[in-house]
Amino acid sequence: MTTASEILKQIKDNDVKFVDLRFTDPKGKLQHLTMDIVCVDEDMFADGVMFDGSSIAGWKAINESDMVLMPDPDTVHMDPFFAQSTMVILCDILDPVSGEAYNRDPRGTAKKAEAYLKASGIGDTAFFGPEAEFFVFDDVKYKADPYNTGFKLDSSELPSNDDTDYETGNLGHRPRVKGGYFPVPPIDSCQDMRSEMLTVLTEMGVVVEKHHHEVAAAQHELGIKFDTLVRNADKMQIYKYVVHQVANAYGKTATFMPKPIFGDNGSGMHVHQSIWKGGKPTFAGDEYAGLSESCLYYIGGIIKHAKAINAFTNPSTNSYKRLVPGYEAPVLLAYSARNRSASCRIPFGSNPKAKRVEVRFPDPTANPYLGFAAMLMAGLDGIKNKIHPGKAMDKDLYDLPPKELKKIPTVCGSLREALESLDKDRKFLTAGGVFDDDQIDAFIELKMQEVMRFEMTPHPVEYDMYYSV
Ligand code: GLN
Ligand code: MG
Ligand code: MG
Repeated sequence: MTTASEILKQIKDNDVKFVDLRFTDPKGKLQHLTMDIVCVDEDMFADGVMFDGSSIAGWKAINESDMVLMPDPDTVHMDPFFAQSTMVILCDILDPVSGEAYNRDPRGTAKKAEAYLKASGIGDTAFFGPEAEFFVFDDVKYKADPYNTGFKLDSSELPSNDDTDYETGNLGHRPRVKGGYFPVPPIDSCQDMRSEMLTVLTEMGVVVEKHHHEVAAAQHELGIKFDTLVRNADKMQIYKYVVHQVANAYGKTATFMPKPIFGDNGSGMHVHQSIWKGGKPTFAGDEYAGLSESCLYYIGGIIKHAKAINAFTNPSTNSYKRLVPGYEAPVLLAYSARNRSASCRIPFGSNPKAKRVEVRFPDPTANPYLGFAAMLMAGLDGIKNKIHPGKAMDKDLYDLPPKELKKIPTVCGSLREALESLDKDRKFLTAGGVFDDDQIDAFIELKMQEVMRFEMTPHPVEYDMYYSV
């Protein structure tokens, strides 16, 4: 635990000029408010800072707009991107009248989910390890057909490495479709940029493990180490910020949009998760793939509630363009130790401490606080109610005969379906007051606006298909 006086000393010692207070809105975007150092004192840490919450999409009405930003001293880090020395502190949002956590603050929800786990007696710590992929674009290296006129429904006809049907001419050393994983430079042209991202993340207190090119052309991934739920949701926000900022410094743009390019892999945010109790892993045992019964039930809960979880883990209209067969993104709600086409994968390894489940459907448009909390709540519901996930699916699920395939439930096909599923299936989230109905209603309303805008806008592909009909 860091104290306010330790931070004030750090500010003095390092000649810090500004303190940037940051928080995450319901859509998952980091927001900030910069305090001049003359206003940073013990009182700021005790009372917080008032701000107008009415301009944050999905939060308070204009007539009750004052809210409190309460700095969390344990999140202090320096921001290396500014000309003047700037310290960052992540904040919780409090209601000014009650002084309690604001019910629509995602970070507050994630904290409540951790407390709920402790109170349940099932465990005391939930570890989360997210793997967020992203694309880096400039206007020279990657050329995509903006009208995607090669639109095809049959996955067997989708472009492969030697069928780059929407790229023409000499591509030189540029990676082909699905050809990015992971030849050395000059095919991989972003080594320095990714190394810089890792260095900056380390400086900002995020423990990192590795970086690599991903399967799609211009797609990348950096590995951050697993940590507790709230800490790693915090770190995911820092991760996205650093990726955007370093790409920007290199004259490029990074995007976490799940499916920016038709016909190539999309960007996922697989999330590894496990529960520990009294310093011991609870997911290791004698069941399938060295799992405990409790872990199987956790998976059962994730699969049972997956469609509702999708609203938080895949909260964009674009998310559902990634969740299709043929691109290493899952569609089927099954689990397996071998199969990456299953929504829940058990990574190989005999060390009980490393026993975990990797949920593969989330993508990086997820608000990590809400997405992680929703998955933990679904898993705990599975454990409490002994929801068995059935048999593991070790075959390549797409090779199953169509009749068999039809029996396996799937993730949602659209954001509309996800929001409707969340509306119907929300009790597992509101258990113990972790999420609340007002918050869920507001989230559905916020996201329904995106669905409506998307559904009402004519798409370039529709011009291609229907203009001359
Ligand atoms: N990009 C793939 C996805 O969308 C994952 C590829 C991988 O990490 N093996 O989930
Ligand atoms: Mg990956
Ligand atoms: Mg993975």
